Amino acid sequence: MNLKGKNAIVTGGSRGIGKAIALGLAEHGANVMINYTSNKEAADEVVKEIEAYGVKGLAIQCNVTNSDDIKKMVDLAEENFDTIDILVNNAGITKDNLLLRMKEEEWQQVMDVNLKGVFLCTKAIIRKMMKQKQGKIINISSVVGVVGNAGQANYAASKAGVIGFTKSIAREVASKNIHVNAIAPGFIDTDMTAVLTEDVKSALIEGIPLKRYGKPEDIAALVAFLSSDLSNYITGQVINVDGGMAI
Ligand code: NDP
Repeated sequence: MNLKGKNAIVTGGSRGIGKAIALGLAEHGANVMINYTSNKEAADEVVKEIEAYGVKGLAIQCNVTNSDDIKKMVDLAEENFDTIDILVNNAGITKDNLLLRMKEEEWQQVMDVNLKGVFLCTKAIIRKMMKQKQGKIINISSVVGVVGNAGQANYAASKAGVIGFTKSIAREVASKNIHVNAIAPGFIDTDMTAVLTEDVKSALIEGIPLKRYGKPEDIAALVAFLSSDLSNYITGQVINVDGGMAI
């Protein structure tokens, strides 16, 4: 996969899956901008790792629920990059609870980051991609958005929303040579899943035919493919990377 000369923005690229995606794109030759909310040191470290691949790395503080922050992020990208070729909407959070106990704030915060954030970031770059007449947008959904999960109604609804958004935007911008796809990861070993108890993790593994958790690099590999010309006839798809969880 050759991404030489391509420019990418990866939201939530300071750790976990987003970090692996940013490094994967850099490894294949793309310049990469990431954002972070609070941990500047972690983001600066990722930038160093990106630049070790001989490409340009940038990091900016940006909350994806805030359109002013997103404008600053896109402005910085435009100052440094001629084109924005790849957008990976990866930033996401969980606030798990059973419906009976779920607070309205828990519902709203998850919707704001996971779904409104995807809308705002995509809206902020789509005009530029349309003018360029090319672009790749990859939205990180979840297997839970496909099959649901008790205790995650807010998260599942937000990730199912990302799938509907992906398919709709794919139809809207296909004529401009912009490809929009979603990835539905299963259980990936990151900070997000580290909070689960060993009992819950063991039970989860029982439901994974490949009998292991995924690694952030398992997602990054597909993002690199979907960012490359090798995927030029794929749009509006949801691709599971879940060890067979949703078979
Ligand atoms: P982590 O919790 O490890 O990392 C989340 C990332 O999102 C961090 O970089 C964080 O930045 C960023 N982020 C959170 N809120 C915001 C915000 N408001 N604005 C900007 N950035 C924000 O999560 P994962 O790496 O595990 O998950 C990445 C994506 O993959 C998420 O969308 C998640 O829902 C999805 N996913 C994860 C799965 C898993 O098993 N881990 C399974 C399926 C989907 P900061 O460090 O600054 O807070």
